[in-house]
Amino acid sequence: MNIVRFAPSPTGFLHIGGARTGLFNWLFSRATKGKFILRIEDTDQVRSEKRFLDEILNSLQWLGMDWDELHYQSSRFDIYREYAQKLLNEGKAYKEGDAIIYKIPAEHTVKIYDLIHGEITIDAEHIKDQVLIKSDGSPAYNFCCVIDDALMAITHVIRGDDHIPNTPKQIILYEALGFKLPKFAHIPMILGEDRSRLSKRHGATSISEYRGQGILPEALINYLALLGWSPGNDREIFNLQTLIKDFSLKRVNKTAAIFDLEKLKWINSQYVKNYDLEKLTDLIIQMLKDKGYPAQDYARQWLSGLIKLYRTRFQTLEHFEQLAGFFFTDTVRYDKEAAEKFLLADNVAEYLVKFKEVLENTEPFDDKSIEAGTRKLVEEAGIEAGELIHPIRVALTGGTVSPGIFEVIQFLGKEKSITRLERVIKKLKTRGRMFDKLEEL
Ligand code: GLU
Repeated sequence: MNIVRFAPSPTGFLHIGGARTGLFNWLFSRATKGKFILRIEDTDQVRSEKRFLDEILNSLQWLGMDWDELHYQSSRFDIYREYAQKLLNEGKAYKEGDAIIYKIPAEHTVKIYDLIHGEITIDAEHIKDQVLIKSDGSPAYNFCCVIDDALMAITHVIRGDDHIPNTPKQIILYEALGFKLPKFAHIPMILGEDRSRLSKRHGATSISEYRGQGILPEALINYLALLGWSPGNDREIFNLQTLIKDFSLKRVNKTAAIFDLEKLKWINSQYVKNYDLEKLTDLIIQMLKDKGYPAQDYARQWLSGLIKLYRTRFQTLEHFEQLAGFFFTDTVRYDKEAAEKFLLADNVAEYLVKFKEVLENTEPFDDKSIEAGTRKLVEEAGIEAGELIHPIRVALTGGTVSPGIFEVIQFLGKEKSITRLERVIKKLKTRGRMFDKLEEL
């Protein structure tokens, strides 16, 4: 049976690179009916923090990566000490103060057979003696990693290729301890678009930040899978089951992957379009609450309908808020340019007064009836439809882009639409230098 592990250190949040490493391990284990072990590498008791640990566990759960076993290195110090003592007893290690150090045998070359990179030969001449236990009593990463990988019977070590320099050191320790070597698969780094290592400079890096922006977990999994792996065709959207079925280490690239935020958003938009509407509605209610919109008991059907109206337009939940936030507020934030262009045009106040009357008399208040009333008004006034519709859109939404205006009005409702029109009409009638102020009405 294949046994793999994902071994994050809780010294920071789970970031894109870590989650991708976790995912490749998880997919490999699920694809081969193996075991996925989560090992928290919390030996650094100063830098390890509970909040990071919680975030890592939450993010993995949110992404749907379940684990078969969970271990904490902090509770295994006795084991590491025991093995260090063994190496001391055998004369393979020596003490320096309280530290225990492994003596690297002279003239040694180490070969790594890497499943992705092939054979890598390293001259061990440059490898210095290895600290096993530091003077504060805590074990060094390369040592406890080897002990755990061996004792947990890990068959495949799948990790970022930034760890390649550690691997020969670890192989030497495997040999010293008489442990069987696992197979290694070093997966390519993830770089920003400027080809430097992905970091804060490139924007959000932690999984929880993407969650906060309203990226859906299925979409993030889909995107992460494509960072360094490809299915061998140009397919880009995969559900978890297909990923598990198609995933193979053989198709992992050797070269670095580039993180492309626009692509992630595009993939997310594909998921948004096809997501279960009820689930999407729940997520949006939560997002609105998180963003501080007045806690409201949204009429569920109304909200689902609105989401349906917008779901081909928004890429993330946060984007939905940007596009449709005006439905959830009492006042509207007016885009100055749009307001100046469309509300200051000739006769607009007059048209809006008439349009307001149309709305007052529209019954039932649905898009078809609103449209019929509007068309009639356009005809009577002898104007182009745009001369009325553009100002209406700006007056009601604050901007120039929206789904079909009649549906927007239906969702906004009679009362809110009329109130907004009245405020704008009043502003227009008091003219003067109004647009300096027409920001929020
Ligand atoms: N704790 C190490 C890290 O987060 C794990 C490395 C490994 O997988 O061996 O980089």
